[in-house]
Parts: sequence; C-alpha cells; structure tokens
Amino acid sequence: MNFGLNKEEEAFRSEVREFLAEELTDDVAGSIFIDTPERVAFIDKLAERGWLSMGFPEEYGGSERPMPMAQYILNQELEMAHAPIVGKNVGVIANTILHNGSEELKKEFLPKIFRNEGQWAITYTEPEAGTDLASLQCKAVLDGDEFVINGQKRFITSAHFSEYFWTAVRTDPDSPKHKGISLLIIDKDSPGITITPMYCVGSAGAERTNEVFFDDVRVPKGRLVGEMNRGWYYIMEALDYERFTIISFTPMIKRFERLVEWVKETTINGRRLKDDPVVRRRIAKMAVLIEIGRMLELRCICTAAVAVPNIESAMNKAWGGIIGSELSDMALDFMGAYGYLWKGSEHAPFGGDTVDQYLMSGHSRVAAAGVDIAKGIVARRLLKLPHQ
Ligand SMILES: Cc1cc2nc3c(=O)[nH]c(=O)nc-3n(C[C@H](O)[C@H](O)[C@H](O)COP(=O)(O)OP(=O)(O)OC[C@H]3O[C@@H](n4cnc5c(N)ncnc54)[C@H](O)[C@@H]3O)c2cc1C
Repeated sequence: MNFGLNKEEEAFRSEVREFLAEELTDDVAGSIFIDTPERVAFIDKLAERGWLSMGFPEEYGGSERPMPMAQYILNQELEMAHAPIVGKNVGVIANTILHNGSEELKKEFLPKIFRNEGQWAITYTEPEAGTDLASLQCKAVLDGDEFVINGQKRFITSAHFSEYFWTAVRTDPDSPKHKGISLLIIDKDSPGITITPMYCVGSAGAERTNEVFFDDVRVPKGRLVGEMNRGWYYIMEALDYERFTIISFTPMIKRFERLVEWVKETTINGRRLKDDPVVRRRIAKMAVLIEIGRMLELRCICTAAVAVPNIESAMNKAWGGIIGSELSDMALDFMGAYGYLWKGSEHAPFGGDTVDQYLMSGHSRVAAAGVDIAKGIVARRLLKLPHQ
C-alpha cells in the first residue's frame, strides 16, 4: 500500500512547514497545550488562515478545502515541531460535536472553535474513575431546564486556562454503569466551580494539571451533547480521536532521529558509540519499530478522512505508549549517567530532555484510557477474542 501524500496534500504540508519556520517562536514551542496567551495568539494565526475549519461543513463555519486529511496533516506537523496542537479543540471536540451534538451546539461551538475562541478542558477522570471511567460518580440531576452538578474531577489539564469543560457526568445512577452517563459542556465561570492545581514532574520542574470541584453548578439542558444517558458512546468516540490527535506518534519519530544523530557524534570512554555493535543493533531494531508506528498513525489519519478510527486509533495508542517507553529506556541506556542530568546541567544531552521524556512516557501509557485498554480493544474488536 502506498501511504505517500498526493501532490495537493504534499503542497499543504510544505505550506505548514513554511508557516512554522516563520511563526514558531521559543515562547510558543515546547508544549502541545494552548495554555498561555502566546500559544493562543499562535493558534489565532492558524485560525486566520482558515486552517482550523478544514474538512468541516460550510454551514457550521467550516471549509471543505484543501482536502479531507488536511486537519490531521496540520496536527502532525505541529506535533513534529513541538508546537501547540489543534488535536484537542478541532480533533476531539469539534469532530465529536459534529457527529453527535444538537443543531444548536453545532451552530454555537463549531464556529467558535474554528475562530479559536475559547479553550477546552477534557473533564473525565475522578479519584475513583481513571482507566475504569465508567465508574465515574460526578452527578448531574435534571431540575427544570437545568442540570445541577455535584462531584469532583482530577488530573484535568488546562482547566485553569479553559473556558469550557467537556464533562462526563452520571445522570442515571440506577442503570448499568455504562448506560447512566451523559456528556455536558460546562462554562468554567459557572458559580460553584473550584479549581485547585496539581503538579506533575516535567522539564520545567512541574507541569500543572488540576482538580475541579462542582458544587451545585447549574448547566442549561441545551448543553447536553447528544442524548441523555448515551454519553458513554460519545466519550468513546472522543477517545478514538484523542488516541491519535492529542497523543500522536509523530513526536517519537523526531525523538528517534535526534537520538540517532547523537549516537553518530558521541564518544563515551574513548569509544565511538556508532561503532558499538550492541548500540547499532538496538538502533536498527528501533528504526523498524518507529516505522511501524508511522504507518499505524498514517492508517488512522487515512481512516479519519472517511470514518471514526476505532481499532486503528487503539493500535496507534498502544504502539505509541509502548515504543515511547522503549525509546526512553534505550536513550538512558546509551547515555548512562548523563541521561539523568536535568535541564540547566551543562553536560545534559538534549538540554535535559531525556529524563523528562522518560517520566512523561509513563503518562503516555495511561492517558486516553491507556495502553492496556487499547490492547483490549484490539483483542476484542480486531481479533474477536472473548470479553473478560
Ligand atoms: C499529566 C496528566 C494529565 C492528565 N490529563 C487529563 C485530562 O486532561 N483529563 C482527564 O480526564 N484525565 C486526565 N488525566 C488522567 C488520566 O487519563 C488517568 O490517569 C488515566 O485514565 C489512568 O487512570 P488512573 O490514574 O486512575 O490509573 P488506574 O486506572 O488506577 O490504572 C493504573 C494502571 O492499571 C492499568 N489498568 C487499569 N485497569 C485496567 C484494565 N481493565 N486492564 C488492564 N490494565 C488496567 C492501567 O493501564 C494503569 O497502568 C491526566 C493524567 C496525567 C498524569
């Protein structure tokens, strides 16, 4: 199968690369999140070019140009350049609203997303509901034309910077757990919301995520995405998108290429690493694994141009999580003690990024319902193995 881009797609990719060469400044690069005024301003420039609305229907502010795969090519290029990505707002939220939201939600939110007005926080995880998301307890009770929300969410990245929470809530406590969940869009400024920071280890010392508490928060009924108590299915679709638009394989390719360059030019204890047969063998094996990852991601992107990728995105997610850890292990093996030097250390390879990647590879294994769950999807849906 030929996974190459056609001429039109290739031209678009070059246009994005030229844009990045001009516009990606140091204060914007380094994180995929749109969580500083500078990063918002950067995404505004993509919006001005019409790049956030590509492939969406014109009646909701979209443009069919330049081609169905364009939004994913854009996201890949942003990931590759370590720029803020559009995979959350456009890839996850806009696509899921388009397929499942009411006419009112599509008219209100899709044009806003395409103009980059308002950021979003994915608000699923709770203290007792992570991988097993269907156990969530945050409660929404219908009271007239409003839902009243009470409960707690945890690990909500960007909550402090977002205008909207894309929130999983329990609306029917008496049904089987997957069948009593709904999906709501909640304004961050609604009375009764408290946000407190949590910090994860990262190269900057600490990356912020958040706890969010809902205390009698009232949300208009019109903010329900799709049907009440069918939220589980919309969340599963949103996770299918998340498993390749937010958690993309693309940065792994860059990390591998960077490591190969480092191996080529590094001498340790008087021996050139590139001459070491063990190093050479491990690099060669990893090159094959990386190429498989590239193919799996392209397969997702091709599928997404015509349908929601499910098995494809699960394979992409599982592979990315596993290879991310292996790549980090390999880099630390090659670098020895130097690999553990942090940012600011004169002798740290890649400015101390290796240990940071090692720590973050653990997160990649659990994020978006994780490697283990993704393997389960492949086992059941592709291989037709029995459900456990
Ligand atoms: C930095 C960071 C940012 C995050 N951002 C967000 C966010 O923006 N929004 C949000 O909603 N959540 C977010 N999360 C939460 C993340 O999605 C959860 O951590 C994840 O779902 C795992 O849940 P858990 O931590 O409760 O682990 P657990 O569910 O307790 O899992 C622990 C381990 O057991 C394995 N496991 C669990 N169940 C099974 C099973 N059935 N089969 C096989 N293995 C299993 C898991 O794979 C994992 O390795 C974030 C987390 C981190 C660390």
